[in-house]
Amino acid sequence: MSEIRVRFAPSPTGFLHVGGARTALYNWLFARHHGGVFVLRIEDTDADRSKPELVTAILESLQWLGLDWDEGPYYQSARLDRYRRLAIELERRDWAYPCFCTPDELQAKRARSEAERRPWKYDGTCRNLSAVERQARRHRPLALRFRVPDTGETSFDDKVFGHITVENRDLEDFVLLRSDGQPTYHLGVVADDLDMRITHVIRGADHLSNTPKQVLMYQAIEAPPPTFAHLPLILGPDRQRLSKRHGATSVGAYREQGILPEALLNFLALLGWTPPKGPDGREREILSRDEMVLAFSLEAVSKSNAVFDFEKLAWMNSEYLRHLPRERLMAVVEQELKSAGIWPERPNADERQRLQAAALLLQSRARNLRDFSCAGRALFTDEFDYDPQAVGRFWKEGSLAELLEELAQRLARLEPFDLTETERCLRALAEERGVKAGVLINAARVALTGQAVAPGLFEVMLVLGRERVAQRLRRAADYLRRNSRPS
Ligand code: GLU
Repeated sequence: MSEIRVRFAPSPTGFLHVGGARTALYNWLFARHHGGVFVLRIEDTDADRSKPELVTAILESLQWLGLDWDEGPYYQSARLDRYRRLAIELERRDWAYPCFCTPDELQAKRARSEAERRPWKYDGTCRNLSAVERQARRHRPLALRFRVPDTGETSFDDKVFGHITVENRDLEDFVLLRSDGQPTYHLGVVADDLDMRITHVIRGADHLSNTPKQVLMYQAIEAPPPTFAHLPLILGPDRQRLSKRHGATSVGAYREQGILPEALLNFLALLGWTPPKGPDGREREILSRDEMVLAFSLEAVSKSNAVFDFEKLAWMNSEYLRHLPRERLMAVVEQELKSAGIWPERPNADERQRLQAAALLLQSRARNLRDFSCAGRALFTDEFDYDPQAVGRFWKEGSLAELLEELAQRLARLEPFDLTETERCLRALAEERGVKAGVLINAARVALTGQAVAPGLFEVMLVLGRERVAQRLRRAADYLRRNSRPS
């Protein structure tokens, strides 16, 4: 077979939606699996709705996901002449004809057929005008319509949805060029898929109904159509089409939430595709990018609607976080802390060491990257607040100020400052003063992290280091003294 060429063709009228990202991913996987070419094409012919900043955002999201393209981005807005030439060629072959109906006329007809509960379809007013009649109307703005044969049927074999046939009489004579000279989606897409030698069109099932029209256009120009593969719709948990109502729908929003690109990719891959079982005969859910490339096939894509399970994505993200290799972990944590403004300016080797120890300590508990800059903040910076709930719960005892002060003093001289000795030191103090060790542990945890829940206290102490620990315990003691009500 000749070289496989696929394309992802977003319209820059919004951010990259998870559905679009899944389409991009399947095209990318298919191309990489077959050693083919992945083309990126920006379908920006709708000048009113397309925005350059959305193109930038879409490219950024694709890059963040690691979906690299081999050709493009091509911009449809730069190819308008080509589309007009194709339309004229179709007219020359009598597969297209000028239509002089005005938007008002069409609107009135549509309203009438709706009132009579007839499905609206262009009625062919201009379809069979004679040359003289056309000439007489030439002063009116004209659109170009495709002439759908009035008998017969059009069919194609979809790789996912199987053999699809429609009666031509159910298709309308669709517009190719609007009266303002703008090409329609159908015209641009067929011209481009032809010129870009696209072998497989892999796109959302919402385009299934467009495909017979495009197949007819290929017939009209006597070119073989590409192979089509339509991907199942993505639904929300309530089985309605996924929308903002359900939660975040753009790739950028998930990035903001601290989702890892590798987790999102893996999650999206499973929205419609069932990977083959693993060597142990078990179903696989966690697959690396390379494993996906190796295993991907259109035959294993299902036509049943896929449900976007937000909980599963959260779970998958924490799985990925937990298993992230150290270097990658540090790279993503650094980025996260930088955007939260708490990454030190030029950390020296010691500081780097400490940041890494902190990241590793948080790694197994984190569900997303935000957990490093929010709940885990105190492990990276001295600028953190005490969570009022934690304070309310664990800083109740009147004697705590003095206890924390004393703990600070003892820890400041402790040798060695390690897990065993720090714990022994705290427990000894608690026992001497007749308070439960748990009470002191909880109070110290709030002092060191600002939180009620954090990794093990003594591990936190080691990450922070002796001086910081003593300093924070004193700071907490001061706070308690300042805020205690005189009894
Ligand atoms: N630009 C179209 C869209 O964003 C895609 C067209 C196609 O894949 O044929 O839905």
